[in-house]
Parts: sequence; structure tokens; C-alpha cells
Amino acid sequence: MQINPLSHGLWERTAPPAPRTDPLMGEHRADVAIVGAGFTGLSAALHLAQSGVSVAVLEAAEIGFGGSGRNVGLVNAGLWIMPNEVPAILGEKYGERLLKALGEGPAVVFDLIRTHGIDCEAEHAGTLHCAADRKGLLELQQRAEQWQARGAPVRLLGREETADRVGSDAYFGSLLDERAGTIQPLAYVRGLAVSAFQAGAEIFTGSPVVSTEREGGGWRLRTTDGSITADWIIVATNAYTSAPWPQVRTELVHLPYFNFATPPLCESALERILPGREGIWDTKEILSSLRRDRQGRLVFGSVGALRGTGAAVHGAWAKRSLRKLFPFLDEVTFESAWYGKIGMTSDAVPRFHCFDRNVIGFSGYNGRGIAPGTVFGRYLARLITGELGEQDLPLPVTDARGQGFRTLREAYYEAGAQIAHFVGARL
Ligand SMILES: Cc1cc2nc3c(=O)[nH]c(=O)nc-3n(C[C@H](O)[C@H](O)[C@H](O)COP(=O)(O)OP(=O)(O)OC[C@H]3O[C@@H](n4cnc5c(N)ncnc54)[C@H](O)[C@@H]3O)c2cc1C
Repeated sequence: MQINPLSHGLWERTAPPAPRTDPLMGEHRADVAIVGAGFTGLSAALHLAQSGVSVAVLEAAEIGFGGSGRNVGLVNAGLWIMPNEVPAILGEKYGERLLKALGEGPAVVFDLIRTHGIDCEAEHAGTLHCAADRKGLLELQQRAEQWQARGAPVRLLGREETADRVGSDAYFGSLLDERAGTIQPLAYVRGLAVSAFQAGAEIFTGSPVVSTEREGGGWRLRTTDGSITADWIIVATNAYTSAPWPQVRTELVHLPYFNFATPPLCESALERILPGREGIWDTKEILSSLRRDRQGRLVFGSVGALRGTGAAVHGAWAKRSLRKLFPFLDEVTFESAWYGKIGMTSDAVPRFHCFDRNVIGFSGYNGRGIAPGTVFGRYLARLITGELGEQDLPLPVTDARGQGFRTLREAYYEAGAQIAHFVGARL
């Protein structure tokens, strides 16, 4: 089954179809049951199946239904907090290990895409983090120094070069990260599913896991229509978690993020706007992002939910912002709009949890999930096959802890973004 374009916008309209899958019916058995068919679950499934482990993926809705099918498609390296903050939070050993693992993340993604021939509009052309003002430029200078001290191929670009690459003189400069790039995210996650299938994994959609219980030395997972026994469970439900691991949800504050896509632009506009096909985002507190798709559409996004008055407010703001960035565009119209929820942890660092015996999962990617989900899925597979031990992972095991005032903060972010964009559309 395909996903509704109203929830997944442009990506559903242009992705290759999902592989055929059915709900889990009756009783099944696998070595590993993976809950959630996003980047994390399917990367784990692919790597486990390639190692000869029998795997069944159980997905409540459809492949890529969660963040994996709705995001901007920026394949970033590292986290969005400053590199030096990571060892300050996690300690030197885990901090530097996580930075290294996630710094190499885009290469893992683009290698998988090449190796498995995944058709997902992959552009390994770098990303530009653009300075919206002098303060933003200072932040980018520090970011550049901290990455360069770790040997990363990042470099600060001046105002002119940024303007040439973006096609707008709105920015004070930018940080080019040559490790990064863009993909069509729903096409990538479907491609991971096809590769996992071909390697021998089973994938069941429309199969929400509603409960789990110990059975023998392993587990039984029950869905609405069937059940499966497994030695291991990988919890890959992240910000879209439903039962039976509510702690994954309560640990995350949801930040809504939307995207609008224009129709394909004319040749003369495409010669000026992102001719090098980098993906960009800016240093503003309520940030915005921009990229092109393969057909020359602009995909423009920011914080906010497209529901209630949000759809009109954010739409008006997005049109005005694009016209300001690119005054040479005659008219700005949108042919697709969609949004999703980003799962934010209290310190912007992802988590590794061991929920019970042989029940493990990574979550909390803070809007950076393409490369991390792929890499963490591979770590989970290697942990289960015994190729790695828990001590080799880039994150320590921690208990999930709920964040205070979560519902209030979620409402505040949604309303705050709407107010800011309402005001911004009128300036
Ligand atoms: C709008 C938006 C923009 C973003 N932009 C970027 C970006 O540009 N770059 C980037 O790197 N990251 C970005 N992200 C973050 C990234 O998309 C996520 O971090 C990533 O997709 C998480 O992948 P995942 O596999 O861990 O979880 P998900 O893709 O969310 O998958 C979890 C799956 O679990 C399923 N599930 C939940 N509960 C159950 C259950 N009980 N039983 C069975 N299945 C269940 C859900 O249906 C869902 O399909 C963005 C996110 C959003 C929402």
C-alpha cells in the first residue's frame, strides 16, 4: 500500500512504489523482531539479514510512515549541537566516538545507496549551513574550527561564494560540509526495505505491536492480527512510538516541522538557485531549510505544524520568504505540503536503551536521523550478531526518563512558530 500524499507530500508523489507487504497474520517465528520500518529498523533488518539472521520487521502503518518518509532529506554529519558540546555531555570516550560514527554517517548512507542501487535522487554534493546574521557567522566559525580540529572536510565560505552557491545574497556566509548531501527520503527508506527483503528479511505492515511477553528464553510480540516469537526485539519506533514502549515517547518533546514544494522551476531560475545542488539550512532560532529535488522543485521547510490555522500562516510565510530570498522568481506557488514530528531529547543527544533482556533500541535523533538511523541500525545488527559488544557502541546504555512539561512545551513550540511566521509574513 502507498502512503497518503497529504501526510508525505512530494515524497509520496515521486518515490518508487513501496514493495508489496501484508499484515502479520497467525503465528510466526524469527531470531529478531524489529518494531518500526524507518531508517533505524530497516538498516538493522538489512544488516542482520545479510549476516544470515532471520528477521521480521513489524510496522504499525507503512514503510517510511514516521519521520523517515517525511523529512527534508539532508544527509547531515554529526549532531546539530556544537561538536565540542558532545564530549562535554557524554564524556571524552563516548563523545568522540559518537562524533566519529556520525561524522562518517553520510558516507555509510551513500555507500549503501551505491551498493544496493537504491534510486533515491542521491546528491553527494555537500550542505551549506548559512549564517542569517553576524552572530550566526560567529557560531559557524566556531563550528568550523571544532570540526577541522577533528580532521573533518568542512570550510567556511564568504558572503560572495555563499551568494553564488545559494542564488541569494541573504546570508553573511556559510559552512560547507563536503561529507553531507541530499536524498529523496521516502525513496531511500523504501530502497532499504527492498534490499532487506532481497537479503531475506520479512516485513509486515499494518501490524502495530500492541503487547509483548516473555516466552521461553525469548519474547512473544502480539499485533492486532497475529503474533511472533523472537530471541531479540529491536525497538525502532522513535518519535512515532505507540505502545508498548511509552517511555520512548515520553522521553521526547515533539517539534513539528513542515515542508512546501514548488512546481519544477524554469531553467533560468535553476541556473541561479543551488546550481551545485547542496542542501541548506540557516542559523535562525526558528530555522528554515531549502533544497532542490531531481526535477528542479524547491523544497522549503521550517518549524511548525500544517493543521488548523497553521496551514495558511506557514504557507503565507513560506511564499514571502522564498520571494525575499529569490526576488527574481516571478511567482511562488506550492504543489505539495506536509509535516511531521521531530523527537527532541533534553540535551539534543540520541539515546541507547536496553528496555529488558534482549530488548534494545536507539532513539531521539533531534532532527538528524538519516545518517544516524542508518548507522545506529547497523550497530544494533552488529551487537546482536556478536560482532560488537555493548562497550563498543557510540552511546552508553541509559534509562529512558520522561521530560517535564512535555505537552506544554510541544504546544508552545507549535504556537510559537505560528506566531513568529504570522509576524514574519507581514514584515
Ligand atoms: C519534518 C521532518 C524533517 C526532518 N528532516 C531531517 C533531515 O533533513 N535530515 C535528517 O537526517 N533527519 C531529519 N529528520 C529526522 C528523521 O526523519 C528521523 O530522525 C528519522 O526518520 C527517524 O527514523 P527512525 O527509523 O528511527 O524512526 P521513524 O522513521 O519515525 O519510524 C518509526 C516507525 O515505527 C512505527 N511504529 C511506532 N510504534 C509502533 C508499534 N507499536 N508497532 C509497530 N510499528 C510502530 C511507526 O509507524 C514508524 O513508521 C526530520 C524529521 C521530520 C519529522
